[in-house]
Amino acid sequence: MISVEEAIARIVGAFEPLAPEQVNLALAHGRVLAEDAISRRTQPPVAVSAMDGYAVIASDVATVPANLDVVAYVVAGDTFDGTLKPGQASRIFTGAPVPDGANAIVIQENTEASADRVTVKENVDEGRYIRPAGLDFSAGDVGLKSGRLLSARDIGFAAAMNLPWLMVRRRPRIAILATGNEIVMPGADIGTGKIVSSNSLALGATITALGGDPLQLGIAPDDRETLRSMFAGAKGADLLLTSGGVSVGEHDLVRSVLGEEGMELDFWQIAMRPGKPLMFGKIGETPVIGLPGNPVSTMVCAMIFIKPAMKAMLGMDISRERLSTATLGSDLGANDERQDYLRAQLYYDDSGNAVATPFSRQDSSMMARLAEADCLVVRLPGAPALKAGHKVEIMPIGGGLVQI
Ligand code: AMP
Ligand code: MG
Repeated sequence: MISVEEAIARIVGAFEPLAPEQVNLALAHGRVLAEDAISRRTQPPVAVSAMDGYAVIASDVATVPANLDVVAYVVAGDTFDGTLKPGQASRIFTGAPVPDGANAIVIQENTEASADRVTVKENVDEGRYIRPAGLDFSAGDVGLKSGRLLSARDIGFAAAMNLPWLMVRRRPRIAILATGNEIVMPGADIGTGKIVSSNSLALGATITALGGDPLQLGIAPDDRETLRSMFAGAKGADLLLTSGGVSVGEHDLVRSVLGEEGMELDFWQIAMRPGKPLMFGKIGETPVIGLPGNPVSTMVCAMIFIKPAMKAMLGMDISRERLSTATLGSDLGANDERQDYLRAQLYYDDSGNAVATPFSRQDSSMMARLAEADCLVVRLPGAPALKAGHKVEIMPIGGGLVQI
């Protein structure tokens, strides 16, 4: 058995960033930049007003009330070619360019207008309510760095930089094959001896959330010939995920059939719970992660191993995701030699502290509990018994690649 850390390092080390492709900005949300996004524009391009009011020369209104001639009227999108002279003001609106000569904006509320004149009732400091050219960013700036996952905010920023298309990483294509004589698709006529393949769909949804395209290969029975022919469906995928059939039982054929097909096995078995039988190898050019069949193991392994693999394919920063801490909500016994990921619920106490309470029964088949869980409490190998109230490390559940 190898450690979780080592397994992550070996998996991540087997992937290179995928090829870049160009996408329209409207389709770029949740994609990962394959090159720096460099601004084609200075924003704002000229000094503009931040308020509706009057552009003035600050020294003209040092003593108030001050009466000024209104010589211009500029709205957003206009230009004004003249220059304000002492004693003059310009009517101005939010986003409109500040006329040359003016150096402050008096807000409308502090004025009284009459015909071609305005009375200013409050003085203003030089620069007040003026957004100088380039306040936000300048042409040539690296606005967004290569490897960045594009949020909704980034889409707006890229639009403001006048970048209607971006170079992003191709979406990873991930083949998913469920195995097991007892496994059937949801909706099928299910006898008591059958189990619905929740893993296929849960993994597919996970891959989508992680910025990839799932390729469902179906369900293979525990039969060498069928497994062999169904593995062929993974040709051309960037990663093959199998579920089930990697444990030590005599019907667990995934490892041995892939081995006969020429798979180079990197490792099998990790010192963790759930997820001990996880297998990693490469068949031809295609890396394979053999996930244990128990649904909780599959999903916990997806969070711990598939997420960094996807990030590596997408050219993202793959330094370990930081764990956060919470106060333990119930007592825990001593841990054995396997790193434990306990499904737990989080709540915030009156002082705003996060309290994580693991479910009392931690069985890797319990999907209802997994669905209810907010986080995993991480227990290191050999961790001693711990009383409620102590700090524990937690890994939040969730956090796909689509962000506002
Ligand atoms: P295995 O690793 O094949 O021994 O499977 C371990 C357990 O997970 C067994 O109880 C299987 O029935 C169950 N299992 C295997 N594949 C799936 C699947 N695709 N969806 C839900 N449960 C599964
Ligand atoms: Mg099985």
